[in-house]
Amino acid sequence: MRKLLLALPALAFVAASAYAFARVGCDMKTTEKRWFCKKCDKVYPKAETKIRKCTDDKADLVQVDLCVKQKYVALCHPTKTGPSPILCCGVKYDKATPDESGIFQTCQGCAAKARLVGDVKHMDGCADKRLKKTCAHAG
Ligand SMILES: [Zn+2]
Ligand SMILES: [Zn+2]
Ligand SMILES: [Zn+2]
Repeated sequence: MRKLLLALPALAFVAASAYAFARVGCDMKTTEKRWFCKKCDKVYPKAETKIRKCTDDKADLVQVDLCVKQKYVALCHPTKTGPSPILCCGVKYDKATPDESGIFQTCQGCAAKARLVGDVKHMDGCADKRLKKTCAHAG
């Protein structure tokens, strides 16, 4: 009986962390194309749509997807952010700023990742080479 009682909080903890895990991950609903230099790993800002070569090393650029979310920030306490307007210190912050994050192809087996499918470099012995799209947004 005593053993059972001890096991209960552990079970509750497992359930809570499984729930948290399910919530992690971005839906990548809104994406935008950007120019990207593979050589120096640089993503060009939205405004630079006319360039086709990297301004640093003249390498050809390729297009990649970025995930764009609207983020609200409490200017009085900038660590307070969220996907909807925030009320903080009696002020409503309802002006969104775009929050951009790179979309990566991530290997389910070895966790190697790259922005483009052909660039994923698997670790030695990676058996499961299935790729999954991931975004650094927390969801
Ligand atoms: Zn470059
Ligand atoms: Zn792999
Ligand atoms: Zn995202």
